[in-house]
Amino acid sequence: MKSFFNKLSTSITLIILPVFFVIAQVNKPVFNYTVSFPSPSEQSYHVELNTSRWDQNIIQFKMPRWMPGYYQIMDYGKNVHNISAFDNNKNKLSLKQIDDSTWEISDVARKSFTIAYDVITKRKFVATSYVDNDHAYLIGGNSFLYVDGFIQLPVKIKIDKHPNWKKIATGLQKVKGVSNQFIATNFDILYDSPILIGNLEALPSFEVKGIPHYFIGYKLGDFDKEKFIHNLKLVVESSVDIIGDIPFNEYTFIAIGPGRGGIEHLNNTTVSFSGNQLKTEAGMNSMMNFLAHEYFHHYNVKRIRPLEVGPFDYEKGSKTNLLWVSEGLSVYYEYLIVKRAGLFNDRILFQNFEKNINTYENNPGKNYQSLTQASYETWKDGPFGRTGKGKSISYYQKGPIVGLLFDFAIRNVTENEKSLDDVMRYLYWEYYKEKQRGFSDAEFQQACETIAGTSLKSLFEYVYTTKELDYNTYLNLGGLKLDFVIDPADKKKQYTLSRLDNPNDLQLKILNSWLGQRD
Ligand SMILES: [Zn+2]
Repeated sequence: MKSFFNKLSTSITLIILPVFFVIAQVNKPVFNYTVSFPSPSEQSYHVELNTSRWDQNIIQFKMPRWMPGYYQIMDYGKNVHNISAFDNNKNKLSLKQIDDSTWEISDVARKSFTIAYDVITKRKFVATSYVDNDHAYLIGGNSFLYVDGFIQLPVKIKIDKHPNWKKIATGLQKVKGVSNQFIATNFDILYDSPILIGNLEALPSFEVKGIPHYFIGYKLGDFDKEKFIHNLKLVVESSVDIIGDIPFNEYTFIAIGPGRGGIEHLNNTTVSFSGNQLKTEAGMNSMMNFLAHEYFHHYNVKRIRPLEVGPFDYEKGSKTNLLWVSEGLSVYYEYLIVKRAGLFNDRILFQNFEKNINTYENNPGKNYQSLTQASYETWKDGPFGRTGKGKSISYYQKGPIVGLLFDFAIRNVTENEKSLDDVMRYLYWEYYKEKQRGFSDAEFQQACETIAGTSLKSLFEYVYTTKELDYNTYLNLGGLKLDFVIDPADKKKQYTLSRLDNPNDLQLKILNSWLGQRD
């Protein structure tokens, strides 16, 4: 575009600019994807990309190597088989594989052409596509090729679903009047919108602040669905109360069947789900924690986010020191959201923290890896740390503990006028809404210190270094204390979190407001 402008004389640029702009919009490449399922019993699906309006003669198409929300290199390109390219007259085009994720196609300038391939699925998992006779779960990054420099362009997707499958669930925008066609305004949205197809069961929807929330899934199982939706609505309300704003027109919980894990998206989440585990109170509690975690992520990581976490680098991954904020503080908030929703008592809340403290304190890795290191190194260690080496930690364990210490410190220094909730709100309004970008490491610290009105340098040593956590100094500020005994069997420390016996007025005020109770 720049080179084209250089050829224009300055005297006519002003007149031509609007016309050229319209032409340039019209002439951008188009991406039309069709997905079909000719042989679901072979656990594969077929994808065709019809594309046109390219100026260049040689184009490299790439499959993402990972998906946002699951911070591991997945090399989705390795699942692409039988790839070919042909023009509208079915003449084959030259196609060369460059590496596991890249294919180069030649002789395509100003042509309309199609790239066709099969995606083989092997693993039933929340971060990989999976197809069988009964359903399909499609991950965008596992399915659709992109071209560097063109990920801001819109994409159309048509799903030719298997005749036995009745429903499609996705966060993608539907084409009006057509049940199987969707639009993504760009590839970031496409890769953020998994698609579940099959004979899906929809539970009753509910509204929070006028925004509809849906729950739809595959093989949901047998459980008290009325009670479940009642509890889920309380969880959503409690989560929305923290930030105060709902940044989408609708939200869908997409349950992909029994299994492990969930992944957050802008207006939906995909969760492994087995309703059969909701029959016990413990099962219901852990599912509510899990759903609160995934729901709160639509704020924390999708919108309240580190600078590096969007726009994404689909080839190399987006490394950041701040996953402990995005993940660790989402664990912290899942506990508080469910407690403040009134779904469980203090003891269950304390047990959640005790589990994190026991795991963290009995892990020798705490002396080797800081929270920022664990965040950055997750790409090679995995989200739960290197296993078996005792040299790493998980930000899912230390993150919520440090969040608790930060919260009580901020509440104490502001006489409970401010809390970690204010930090999250500040990040949401200042960076997501106002600046429309993520924040740096220094900006996160500055946000905490702005809310606290003072330096939090000593607390940030718990983030940047492996310094021993001085629990009771901070827990006492909010009327709590931590004790431990040594288990004679395995010599591990067993920690117990409980209330102080005689808290003063400020300690009690902090504790009650933290628990979501009125004074
Ligand atoms: Zn998470």
